[in-house]
Amino acid sequence: MITELLQKSSLFTLLHRIDIDLANQCRLKGCPFCDGPLHQANYERKPRGGPETLPHDCSVRQSLCCGREGCRRRCLPASCLFMGRRVYFGAVVLVVMALMQNRPGGASAAELKTMFGISEKTLIRWITYFQEEFPLSTTWQQLRGRVHSSVSNNHLPGNLLTYFTHNCKSAEGGLVDCLCFLASDFPTLRSSRLME
Ligand SMILES: [Zn+2]
Repeated sequence: MITELLQKSSLFTLLHRIDIDLANQCRLKGCPFCDGPLHQANYERKPRGGPETLPHDCSVRQSLCCGREGCRRRCLPASCLFMGRRVYFGAVVLVVMALMQNRPGGASAAELKTMFGISEKTLIRWITYFQEEFPLSTTWQQLRGRVHSSVSNNHLPGNLLTYFTHNCKSAEGGLVDCLCFLASDFPTLRSSRLME
């Protein structure tokens, strides 16, 4: 069961390590506004939906800040752990959406709400985002050329997770690959109205 993956601390520590790599890549490019040097300026979040005994590191959002006087702007690297400013871990958003879309008949909203303690309002926001905003986003138009044409705009992101899982040896690997793929959509998610 893919929901069992969300109980594994190892999944989140792996995603945390990937986030560090993404931040390092971002730092090497320098400040996108002035080419100044970027310094670590991480901050703590209180993400929901992960295992209860999760290392503190997994709540840290990698963040960078320009060191040049007069600029000092914050630069957020792409993230696999977090999906924009949503309160739940990105892995939880992805798995919950996939369960609703991929299970025969779809998992009922009530089941999922209980399983992950998600409010109906939040669930509706995620559904609306993936049905209405994400398929039309410029980033998805660019991303979709990198996956097989069998991944349609309908049933995103569930069919995307299925695609990555089929192309990977394990369900965990598929989930991680899918989160890495979606991480490049971060600028879109960040500017989204659906922050929860
Ligand atoms: Zn700068």
